Amino acid sequence: MSEKLLFELSSPGREAFSLPASDVPLRPIEELIPEEYRRAEAPALPELSEVDIARHFVRLSILNHHVDKGFYPLGSCTMKYNPKVNETLSRLPGFANLHPHQPESSFQGALKLMYELGEYLKEIAGMDQITLQPAAGAHGELTGLLMINAYHRNKKRPRSKIIIPDSAHGTNPASVITAGFSTVQVRSNSKGLVDVEELKRELNEDVAALMLTNPNTLGLFESQILEISKLVHDTGALLYMDGANLNAMMGITRPGDMGFDVVHFNLHKTFSTPHGGGGPGSGPVGVKDSLAPFLPIPMVAKRTGGKGGEEYGWEWERPLSIGRMHGFFGNFGVMVKAYAYIRQNGPKGLREVSENAIINANYLKENLKSYYDLPYDEVCQHEFVLSGEKQLKQKGVKTLDIAKRLLDFGLHAPTVYFPLIVHEALMIEPTETESKESLDEFMQAMIQIAKEVEENPEIVKSAPQNTPVTRLDEGKAARDLNVRWKG
Ligand SMILES: *Cc1c(COP(=O)(O)O)cnc(C)c1O
Repeated sequence: MSEKLLFELSSPGREAFSLPASDVPLRPIEELIPEEYRRAEAPALPELSEVDIARHFVRLSILNHHVDKGFYPLGSCTMKYNPKVNETLSRLPGFANLHPHQPESSFQGALKLMYELGEYLKEIAGMDQITLQPAAGAHGELTGLLMINAYHRNKKRPRSKIIIPDSAHGTNPASVITAGFSTVQVRSNSKGLVDVEELKRELNEDVAALMLTNPNTLGLFESQILEISKLVHDTGALLYMDGANLNAMMGITRPGDMGFDVVHFNLHKTFSTPHGGGGPGSGPVGVKDSLAPFLPIPMVAKRTGGKGGEEYGWEWERPLSIGRMHGFFGNFGVMVKAYAYIRQNGPKGLREVSENAIINANYLKENLKSYYDLPYDEVCQHEFVLSGEKQLKQKGVKTLDIAKRLLDFGLHAPTVYFPLIVHEALMIEPTETESKESLDEFMQAMIQIAKEVEENPEIVKSAPQNTPVTRLDEGKAARDLNVRWKG
């Protein structure tokens, strides 16, 4: 990697600013700051011009792969292209400069936007009430589970267990433990779906809820969901849906109609907020009426009165609420983008989003399945899972090698080694925003890699070669963290 550190680019005396001469009389620092708080030496900061700094960071930004640079089929993560107009809208001064302590009457527009976003999400998921507070999917899971706990306690019959399938995303068991429950795992059957017989054996009066992802992390629709819902509810337990895969069902079907009592949304996956760099996200949680008393406070409420006959405000009156889940009201900027995205697409457009996500995934799956193992050969939803097992057994090439080789083609790798139930998993989610040309480019690269494994496996095992850095020791950075500059 040729890019130098800012410290190495530094040149004494260079500055990125120029200020007019001060007309305030100078006073020596000794008069203003006591000695014990003063440095003996100036800090060792880099000295650079504005051009140096801008170019340094732009060069770094294009060394990395990102969704505005190329295809990013990271399964489960929904790394899709996000319309830039939504960024512009979320930065409008009236939104971006709001202060959370302003009086309600001074930001009626923002409150109305939050209220209407909640109404849209309820409609999309078939839920009765909603909170926009949680900051991401995992935070939404915790919120939903705390409400489930409060629900059972309020019935004076606390329950301690949550059932999760073995294909679940890692945040599910983590949230279960954080919420104070313990997990019970149910296996998937040979079709990659919840094994209903095993579920029956695990259901009892101690189970608070079943937590499901639908479509599940194999990209398969849980076709027995109505039967599952009845079994769960018959024992007094509730049904939680991890809604991270909602981009496979918008306008086609709804969690509420399948019997789910709680669902979280990942606005930063399904509804057009760029993510992957660590945030911000937003994970609203929709619930059926039975759980509404436990929703976090404050809620956004619409009241009669004010100009035009309606006004919006915070509602704090909810005696059984689990309390607050976020400082102030959640990540508002993400809500603006989601609101704009939903309004731009409308009901028909959202359905097309899901249909195209499904078509794109099936197109890749059908064209790649003769080159890689496809453990669950079914019509998939928005993603599918291949296995590199054949390549490993025949040529000793690991899935990690295949993923690294893709980088040489200027493509981002799929998710690897997840879900855990598929050996050497390659989890591919193309999303709806890709053209046939970019899907074909990825497909051709995957096919070429499969051929290389046959003819010249070393090239795959030693990949990547065309990237700013070659194969990294992925454990070393965590075990041997040293970020000090040795100048
Ligand atoms: C992304 C994801 C989550 C977690 O969501 P975050 O917003 O990253 O916290 C949970 N479940 C599934 C299936 C996911 O894809």
